[in-house]
Amino acid sequence: MLAGELLVREERPLPKLSWQRAAGAVLVFVALTASIEWLAIMSGNHWLIGVPFIVACGLAIYYFGFRRCPQCYRRLVVRQDMFGPTQFRVVYDCEHCQIIWDSGLTGDTRDEPIG
Ligand SMILES: [Zn+2]
Repeated sequence: MLAGELLVREERPLPKLSWQRAAGAVLVFVALTASIEWLAIMSGNHWLIGVPFIVACGLAIYYFGFRRCPQCYRRLVVRQDMFGPTQFRVVYDCEHCQIIWDSGLTGDTRDEPIG
């Protein structure tokens, strides 16, 4: 065994976002919206009607803004892992588990962003 200054990093394929989770998020949002709207109308606090939109933004960021480690649920750091002169694959690093999650997405730095 060496002194161990090099961390052994494991590489795994990143599981795709399941439709069950997405459906769950939508259901939670609909239920929240319905209860908040009801509360807003019943209490006369019409400013509450804006709350679901703020919640929707929060949920969208939580579910789609950044990925979490499937193992420890900490936030993952996205990185472009170069494997050619211009080609890269998109990987997510979990500093806690020392796992590199492979998103399966690849790109090319020569490609134009969109359009
Ligand atoms: Zn982790």
